[in-house]
Amino acid sequence: MDSMKRVGVGASAQEQAEDWLRYGEELGLGPYYRGRAPMHLPGADSSVTPPALIANAAGPVAAAADRRSPEASSSGTHRLQTMAPKLAVASASALAPAGALPSLFESFDRIVGDTLPVIREDIGDCTRCKLHKARTNIVFGVGNSKAELLFVGEGPGHDEDIKGEPFVGRAGKLLTQMIEAMGLRREDVYIANVVKCRPPENRLPEKDEITTCSPFLMRQIDVIKPKVVCCLGSCAAQTLLQTTQGISKFRGEWFDFRGGKLIATYHPAYLLRNPPAKSEVWKDLQKVMSHLGLQPRKR
Ligand code: SF4
Repeated sequence: MDSMKRVGVGASAQEQAEDWLRYGEELGLGPYYRGRAPMHLPGADSSVTPPALIANAAGPVAAAADRRSPEASSSGTHRLQTMAPKLAVASASALAPAGALPSLFESFDRIVGDTLPVIREDIGDCTRCKLHKARTNIVFGVGNSKAELLFVGEGPGHDEDIKGEPFVGRAGKLLTQMIEAMGLRREDVYIANVVKCRPPENRLPEKDEITTCSPFLMRQIDVIKPKVVCCLGSCAAQTLLQTTQGISKFRGEWFDFRGGKLIATYHPAYLLRNPPAKSEVWKDLQKVMSHLGLQPRKR
């Protein structure tokens, strides 16, 4: 904390950073936070600047591409490199404003020996955020623990809250149809949400709820190690890419993401309201199929 004072981070930002560190301790990440080697940034005195803050200053998405994707200079990722800085600008200005907080996923590394049951056990009867107050069930996630394809939505709705399973309502039925059209079964993929408890009145999850709950999703992704993470809707895409840009700006584009690829498309609930958008989503899913070597289901 002394080093943060030396580089001029404001008091409230420092408190928030301390909250992060406490949360990291709770997740068993304490040694990671304390033990990371300083990174060098031209013009910065890395001996006194916390590495997460340096990464944030450079743009969380760009930093992620640098550190987590050694193959990022290959031809297949060229487009990603040009897109990432654009997203980083939006993220740095809107998601991590005054004080340049440690970015959520820059500060989050893989936990050795983690498993889905351990993550579920860690969640427990969670009361970490206010969404616990009105929930019926925690909706952890469902599917193949070795899935090559992982779908991420924003949060449980009414049906999911009752059943304790993601995407089981009308939008869930449409997602199942989409999965089957890709030549897969629902049980072949993994399905999870950014937050695991239903937001009241089906509102979008709020920033503090996302910040509190999404590390569990990140652990699930790290354990499953899918080849493709497909974000369904703005909330999931903006959370994982740490951007405030509208999904229509980057829908259907590929991003490097924690050793695999990430693509965003529209949420099935949006398709129920706007059926013409199904053709756009199908184009995105065809890209996923091509990447995974899938053939469409024969009718
Ligand atoms: Fe806990 Fe996540 Fe539910 Fe919040 S949404 S109470 S963090 S499980």
